[in-house]
Amino acid sequence: MEMEQLVALCKRRGFLFQSSEIYGGLNGFWDYGPLGVELKRNIREAWWRDMVSSHDELEAPPGAPSAYEMTGLDCTIIMHPQVWKCSGHYDLFHDYMVDCRESKKRYRYDQIEGRWVEYEGNRVFATSYQSGEEALADIELKALKFFNLRSKHKDDLQWDEPLRALPAVEDRSRVLGPDAKQLATLTEPREFSLMFKTIIGALGGEEDTAFLRPETAQGIFVNFKNVLDSTRVRIPFGIAQIGKAFRNEITPRNFTFRSREFEQMEIEFFCHPETSAQWYQYWRDRRFRWYVELGLAGDRLRLRDHDRQELSHYSCGTADIEYAFPFLAPGQFGELEGVAHRGDFDLRSHMEGKLVRRGDELVVEEGPDGKPRYRGSGKDLSYFDEQTRERYVPHVIEPSAGADRAALAFLCEAYNEDEVPDEDGKPTRRVFMRFHPRLAPVKAAVFPLVKKDGMPEVARGIYRALKPHLNVFYDEKGAVGRRYRRQDEVGTPFCITVDGQTMADGTVTIRDRDTLKQWRVSKKDCLAELQGRLTG
Ligand code: ATP
Repeated sequence: MEMEQLVALCKRRGFLFQSSEIYGGLNGFWDYGPLGVELKRNIREAWWRDMVSSHDELEAPPGAPSAYEMTGLDCTIIMHPQVWKCSGHYDLFHDYMVDCRESKKRYRYDQIEGRWVEYEGNRVFATSYQSGEEALADIELKALKFFNLRSKHKDDLQWDEPLRALPAVEDRSRVLGPDAKQLATLTEPREFSLMFKTIIGALGGEEDTAFLRPETAQGIFVNFKNVLDSTRVRIPFGIAQIGKAFRNEITPRNFTFRSREFEQMEIEFFCHPETSAQWYQYWRDRRFRWYVELGLAGDRLRLRDHDRQELSHYSCGTADIEYAFPFLAPGQFGELEGVAHRGDFDLRSHMEGKLVRRGDELVVEEGPDGKPRYRGSGKDLSYFDEQTRERYVPHVIEPSAGADRAALAFLCEAYNEDEVPDEDGKPTRRVFMRFHPRLAPVKAAVFPLVKKDGMPEVARGIYRALKPHLNVFYDEKGAVGRRYRRQDEVGTPFCITVDGQTMADGTVTIRDRDTLKQWRVSKKDCLAELQGRLTG
């Protein structure tokens, strides 16, 4: 599948629109259209149901060290600025960017990719700001231009290494920037904070500066004590939250993959330090399985453990769940979710103040005056186990997923084309979205075969009987073949058609989106039939 085909379908059928499109759009912001909103709601609801509301707290699920409880929260987007100082985001949450002195463009340092190329003894590192196959084609074009060659001479260029990111290149004097004509026009990398600032209240001084949260996780940590004090949950337990997060990404791109406003689905799972390694394994596997169960099977999905250099200074283990998005080069994967073992870093930060690593230990960072650089809340966030009479700071396992990236992966995976016979038996190309029934925006469509002979009345009756239970759609316009195609294109798993036989014996046909098989059921049994197949 070409990404353009999916982007076009998303626009045409109302899955995704660019934000503020009539004013030319706003880079990095996306709106979900009438079908997109249903898809994303279904993703969020599947996550909440599977992780929280339908979780069986009485028995240990397969792979878990014990039974555990799950509960939820819904915190504000703007929080006390001290939260971000103690969490480390204020000082550390940034990307590196470089500017081009020639083109005046700004790039994320680690997203410039290039290749070493040589022509008549002159060797340069030609770069591109695209990714994957597009980057390779772009780099070739840039190199030809730089050496003043026509494309028929492209075989005269000597390439000696595969695509690599700019930070891996030492000799910057030979770098040709993505939009530059000369060498060495890129500045040294500089830090750029990813947090959006805002002002609280009318006066608007520096002390009123606040931030839009760059992740939902911190709201959970700062409410840890509230949850413990107001419920009967006992460790091990998890707190889940779904909500918006904001990051002022330097270069949003690849459709919704890197947006500036997006939604996260996060769990902070609190456990005893001694069992935390087992819980980490459990969550890493459980979360991977969730995507598989919802249809992201096959080799496009993988679970990748971070190696030691990649781990953050507080993490004892992190694994990413990744998907081979079609906009990436073959063999490359993009992160859908990170599952991290965070130790006691977060709770301790909010008790004691911002922590830094010293040797094997995490200690409170001190300012020039020898006092904590950012003071913690001073509240006791440790846990007392009544049974063992033990007090400790729990360890945290954090599965952190993006609802928008999940939606994008499910859209990419669902996109399918095949050939089916049209009304006259002629093979025609069909685009169909193979969503898992739980995620499909519309669960079934109801059609009268023709708009006469009492069929619309019967079909409307079926539609009304189903609607309180399922998101169904009624359509009586145009040829039935075209109506099927329209439903296939938005991934509706089933179509129910009222025809001549319905009027005689009360049965309707049900058609399956993927197999195109049709079978008859009594019109009274439609709901039971659909419910069985949608959950089965
Ligand atoms: P990346 O390396 O791709 O920027 P990250 O490692 O910074 O991601 P986390 O901080 O671990 O991401 O955030 C958890 C999840 O939130 C990610 O796995 C992703 O699904 C989602 N997410 C993060 N940044 C964005 C973004 N800019 N747009 C959409 N989703 C995002």
